[in-house]
Amino acid sequence: MTPQPSPEAGAAVKAADRAHVFHSWSAQELIDPLAVAGAEGSYFWDYDGRRYLDFTSGLVYTNIGYQHPQVVAAIQEQAATMTTFAPAFAVEARSEAARLVAERTPGDLDKIFFTNGGADAVEHALRMARLHTGRPKVLSAYRSYHGGTQQAVNVTGDPRRWASDSATAGVVHFWAPFLYRSRFYAETEEQECARALEHLETTIAFEGPSTIAAIILETIPGTAGIMPPPPGYLAGVRELCDKHGIVLVLDEVMAGFGRTGTWFAADLYDVVPDLMTFAKGVNSGYVPLGGVAISAEIAATFATRPYPGGLTYSGHPLACAAAVATINVMEEEGLVEKAAALGASVVGPGLRELAERHPSVGEVRGTGMFWAVELVRDRETREPLVPYNASGEANAPMAAFAAAAKKAGLWPFVNMNRTHVVPPLNTSEAELKEGLAALDAALSAADEHVR
Ligand code: PLP
Repeated sequence: MTPQPSPEAGAAVKAADRAHVFHSWSAQELIDPLAVAGAEGSYFWDYDGRRYLDFTSGLVYTNIGYQHPQVVAAIQEQAATMTTFAPAFAVEARSEAARLVAERTPGDLDKIFFTNGGADAVEHALRMARLHTGRPKVLSAYRSYHGGTQQAVNVTGDPRRWASDSATAGVVHFWAPFLYRSRFYAETEEQECARALEHLETTIAFEGPSTIAAIILETIPGTAGIMPPPPGYLAGVRELCDKHGIVLVLDEVMAGFGRTGTWFAADLYDVVPDLMTFAKGVNSGYVPLGGVAISAEIAATFATRPYPGGLTYSGHPLACAAAVATINVMEEEGLVEKAAALGASVVGPGLRELAERHPSVGEVRGTGMFWAVELVRDRETREPLVPYNASGEANAPMAAFAAAAKKAGLWPFVNMNRTHVVPPLNTSEAELKEGLAALDAALSAADEHVR
């Protein structure tokens, strides 16, 4: 562990941040970012010596925790031998990372186009789909998040994200399954699956199947609430895509690389997309990296016809070396299996037990190390604990929840009326239990706001 820096050093970091850093998704003068002094494993700490158990994995990306020595060493070694090299060349770290990813992606998704992160992976996947089909439209789900760049934000199904970007022509949203909030239309998973597939089929018919290039879906929607789809839904979407020659893009930027207790969430549903986007967990976010895994059929479209797209840093050697080391660590430490096992034996049962005791918990759902707790004012009506996109006074109940969690030593992921439990995959059983105990205290603060 690095020596504890002084509060004065923290104050200087904070002052420079406040003066010059423009933060994502924020009103610049209303935020108060914590100055972080260091991080290791599943913990980070500030300059005043306060230590937090990280149940957020950063932005759900540090799948192997902070400062894993094997990955740090691999980055150092790559920096010493070949810090960077342009994408047109065959470079060992890049070739090896592509091979390791391709060996783990489902089906024949064996060609890897590397990007700098998730949003540009989505941009490129949709471009590939449009060029492959010669069709203009893309269908995507409400309650989805696909990234902050122009096309990615347009396919994102959340109006909070659309404010400043004019809509791209040819993006149509549909209502994907979410039983907890579809209850006036469906009472069971089977009914919700049927409702959502019928709705999608109708949308395709009204839009005109021959105008639709792609359907893009997060295999398990993450940012919008970790909503595992009912059994049969993704297979049904796959069938509709096959019937109409539509490219199926599964976005696994958040759900991929072990988060769900399988290498990819698609493995849980036995569905093979035509294109799959990834980022985050591919190298635990140690160096920015994302990509698109491409099926043999779509790769063939660009066998003799140039693909009109690229990035200066595509397959950056430092990022790829981090990916190779991360995937090797995940194999050596059995982290995918560990996420599945501890998700089923500790996190799931622990959260359900909390749900029984805390009236503010409306629903617990998830798998592996990918869980959401939906907080409500009223379990009967399912009214969310805070209104959609609440801020200021309206958000006081969630602010109280977060403050109580931090006081108990836990850094929680909070989004609207939910907390997501998304710790690094190598968080130990004892650490998970410590986090659940802190959540217990935080939920007591939320209970105060229940009707
Ligand atoms: N797609 C999904 C499913 C995501 O969860 C995210 C980020 O959270 C993105 C795309 C965008 O990734 P990035 O922020 O790396 O551009």
